[in-house]
Order: sequence, then C-alpha cells, then structure tokens
Amino acid sequence: MTFALHGIPVSKGIAIGKAVLISRAAIEVSHHLIDSGKEEAEAKKLLDAFDQVRLELDQLRQGLPKDAPPEMAAFLDVHGMILADPALAEKPIKLIRTQRLNAAWALTTELNDLLEQFAEIEDSYLKERANDIRQVAERVIKTLNAQQDSLTPSDFLPTSDIGVESIIVAHDIAPHDMLRFKEHAFTGFITDLGGKTSHTAIVARSMEIPAVVGVRHASEMIRHGDWLVLDGERGVVVVAPDEQLLAEYRELQTQILKEARKLQQLKHAKTETADRVEIELFANIELPEDAIQAVKLGAVGVGLFRSEFLFMDRKQALPDEEKQYQEYRRVVDLMHGLPVNIRTIDVGADKALGGGRDISQTGTSPLGLRAIRWSLTEPEVFLTQLRAILRASAHGQARIMIPMLAHAKEIDETLRLIEKAKQQLHQRGKAFNPNIQVGAMIEIPAAALVLPLFINRFDFLSIGTNDLIQYTLAIDRADHAVAHLYDPLHPAILNLLANIIDQAKRANVPVAVCGEMAGDSALTRLLLALGLTDFSMHFNQLLLVKREVLSANVGLLRARVPRVLRAYEPEEQAKALERLLS
Ligand code: PEP
Ligand code: MG
Repeated sequence: MTFALHGIPVSKGIAIGKAVLISRAAIEVSHHLIDSGKEEAEAKKLLDAFDQVRLELDQLRQGLPKDAPPEMAAFLDVHGMILADPALAEKPIKLIRTQRLNAAWALTTELNDLLEQFAEIEDSYLKERANDIRQVAERVIKTLNAQQDSLTPSDFLPTSDIGVESIIVAHDIAPHDMLRFKEHAFTGFITDLGGKTSHTAIVARSMEIPAVVGVRHASEMIRHGDWLVLDGERGVVVVAPDEQLLAEYRELQTQILKEARKLQQLKHAKTETADRVEIELFANIELPEDAIQAVKLGAVGVGLFRSEFLFMDRKQALPDEEKQYQEYRRVVDLMHGLPVNIRTIDVGADKALGGGRDISQTGTSPLGLRAIRWSLTEPEVFLTQLRAILRASAHGQARIMIPMLAHAKEIDETLRLIEKAKQQLHQRGKAFNPNIQVGAMIEIPAAALVLPLFINRFDFLSIGTNDLIQYTLAIDRADHAVAHLYDPLHPAILNLLANIIDQAKRANVPVAVCGEMAGDSALTRLLLALGLTDFSMHFNQLLLVKREVLSANVGLLRARVPRVLRAYEPEEQAKALERLLS
C-alpha cells in the first residue's frame, strides 16, 4: 500500500530506491545476508560473543571494590542472569539458520521484538528490565562489531538487489557515521530525528545526497527492502509508490539534473552584483579532499574547515601532530595559496569525540563542554592542533579560527596558547608563519553583544549562524521537536546579524557568515542587504548563491533593509521582506 511520510527537507534532490534499515539499537549493526553454508559459523560467532561478554561481566563482578554499593553487584548479577538464559540467543540463531541474517542483525531483530513486548507490560519493575536486556544485547552487538571488518554496499541489500539504488532509513545517524557512509553508494537518507542545521544534515548536504530528517516513526513504519521515493525538496517520503508516481518523480529527477548542468556555466563568471559590488564566496569543508571540489566550483578559499571530523573516528586514536599537519597541509596545497580557515576542534553536543574517549568528556548538551571550552580543558590536545596548523601555515595561507568564544578570559587564554605553540615550534626549529591570522567565530549572542572585545583581538570574524540562532532562540538545533521554532528570519536574528556586520565593517575587520544561512540561496539577497560581502557555504551551494548575487542590486537592497529590521510584527516583516526581495 502506498503511503507518504513528512519531515524536514535538509538536502535537496530526489532519490528513488530500496530502503536499507539501520537498526535503532546500534547504528553500527551491519545488515547483510550471509552466504549459504556459512550459517553454523555465524551462529558460533554469536555464541562466542555471548561467552566473551559473560567473561567480561564475571571479571567486572570479581573486580568490584569492597565498598562498592550493593546495587552495583545486583545490577551485574541481573545482567549475568539475562546472558545465561539460553532463550536470548535461541531466536537469533534460528534467524541466522533460516533467514541467513548476519549475527548482529539477528540479535537486533530479537531485541526489538522483546522491547516491543516489554513496552506493553504495566508492571513498572518488569518494564524497567527492558533496559537491562537492551544493555546486555548492545554489549553483545558491540563485541560482534569489534570482530567485523568495514562495511561494503553489498552488506546492506541481498545480492539479488545489487545495482538497485538504496536509501538509508535510521532512527538517528551521528555525523561521523554519516561520513562513513560516504564510501557507499547510497542515494538518500531518512531519519526519525534531527533538524535542519544538525551536523548530520550538514554532512548530508555536503555529500550532495537528498535527505529528509525528523520523519517521526519512519524507522518503524518503513520495512527493509521497501521501495521509496525521497523528495529532498519538499520533505516527503513516499513508501511503495505506484508506477505513475514513480514516472512523475523520475521526470522531476531529470529536470533537476538539467538545472544543475545549466548552473555549471556560471563556474567561471566573476562574482559581483549587478551594481558591481564584489562578493567573495568561500567553501565549508569537512574532509581535506572536499577542497578539490571547492576549487573546481570557484571558491576563493576555505571559509570553514570543520577539523573535528578528523577527531571523531571512534576506532582510531586521536590524530597526532604529524598526522594533523599532513591533513591541514593537504588542504592548503589543494587550495593553491588561497586562504584556509582551519576551525579548531568543535566537539561536544551532537559531535562525539572519537579516539576511544568517553562521551562524558564533552557531554551531549549544546550548552556544555563544547568546542573551545573543551579545548581549553585539554591544553595538550589543543597545543598539538595549534602546532599542526602553524606548521601548515608555512606552505600557504592557513589561518586559525576559534569556535564558541564568549568571555574575554577565554580569548586571552586561547591567544596565550597560540603564542606558546609558536614558541614550541620555534624551539624545535620548525617552519611556520609567525604572522598567521587568527579569527573568531561569532556564534554566541553574548559575543555578538560585546563585539569590540573580538574586533580588538582578532584578525577576522566569521558568524556561525547555526549556533547563533540556536543560542539566541534557545532551541536545540538537532531536536526535531523544536525544529519549527528554528527561524533565521526572527527579527532578533536579523538585527544581531546587521549589528555584527556593521560594527566589523566600520572597524575594517573582515567578517563572513559561515553558517547554513550563507548557503541558502533564498537568503542571499537578504544577507547582501545586511551588508555581507563574504559568504562561506558548502561548495555544492556555491553556484546557486552566485546566481543570486549576479542579479542582485546591493544599493537598492541596502536602502530597503531598515524597514525589514524595524518590522517585529510577522505581517509587517513579511511585507517588508517581500518588498526587499522583489
Ligand atoms: C555555525 O554554528 O553556524 C557553524 C558554522 O558551526 P557548526 O555548524 O559546525 O556548529
Ligand atoms: Mg557552530
């Protein structure tokens, strides 16, 4: 039966393909059918993983200190009992033997069934046990994953479907997991959770893969192997589409492709407005090799290199100075002398630190130990990164950009550490640019309200509108429940932006916007009207934004903006914006 689900469109385009369901229990569960004849070996893998977890729990139990709270021992006993019950492995083994599911997939299927049964139980004590079962099963899944090699596309759909496009459906996907999927031939992403500027959405856009997030219950309503149409323009997912609908969407896909080809003609056009104001379009990148595309599409530099993506791989240790230097140098080399703003690590909130570090080190709250706050608590990690960036600056225009500053003392401590990193390199006889430019991101309202503090201390500023909006409007940008309140056009946001740009320009300090607003071509004219001349965005948005720039008249736009900024009432603002954009 055909039905449609709705969510938040976060990455444009149309995808048509079969659903690949990624389990809610653990994103890293690979789903594949094992070869016939290998069923017993797979069943043994599962039983071995159970044994290993049992051993780990026994060791934990024995190693408990004498003064450990009694609940701790009781908790380990309950987990031991769950593991000892042969029923937990029974059904998964049956699934391996009869349906040839891989071990982790089989166990997850059983876990989901059990959780559903527990959800119907009234007794609160028994209901609580669902969590114990989940924790035990996830521990076994982790053990299985540790034995598993990296995924290949054919892991996901049966071999009979090779060549068929596939669309990932998941409860949620972490940004670094999203990057892992880059190697696979997926044509779309659908998640139950997420918002427009969550980092997962940002990565989907950078991969140019259509995506819809915040599609509540998608991972429960869509089944593995269902045919799907994912409309990344309107935020619609059609499950089991009929022939007519498929034909309509295929036609739409063709049109989008044609449009994209037409845009390519703008690649070499000079970026200036109709009234000859020069505009600079920079690229945002997550991985060094993204710089290749950025240059091809005519970016005048990298406005934001989210360096934390080098630090988010759970399986690898945090990269050392040499490794980081190689990666930064690669971007600098690829950009052939153009500026590269290397943003220092911004982990925390929806970006978990890898290298085997525990999540408790940064926390998941967007108000917590994130970005520069975390770096300042780990001066050795921070100094290592600073030295690596400085060394890259010997080969081109590498610049340091600091995220999430708000306090004068944080700024001063940061600048002190940059000087210390320079001294350390000097002592080691390593080359670097002693006049390297250092910039600050303006993404906390407090920073925007005390801008002179930043203007006096930094060489350039870059406005992170994703966070500036999140913190000004007090909504978690990754939470779909408040996604409807995420509004870049809120008068408070527009006035803050106007003020930051105006103050920076007056002081002759370069200022850019590197949040998602800069890449939204529907907002290009508005940002030009606010006086912005430097835009940094995902490279795939570059030509769309350029098209807007070429036809805009900044003089006219600037004259009409005061009315927009004074309009607090929604109808009044809509009229003022309509006039501005007409
Ligand atoms: C921003 O906050 O706008 C920004 C560019 O940084 P990030 O999206 O990585 O938080
Ligand atoms: Mg930010």
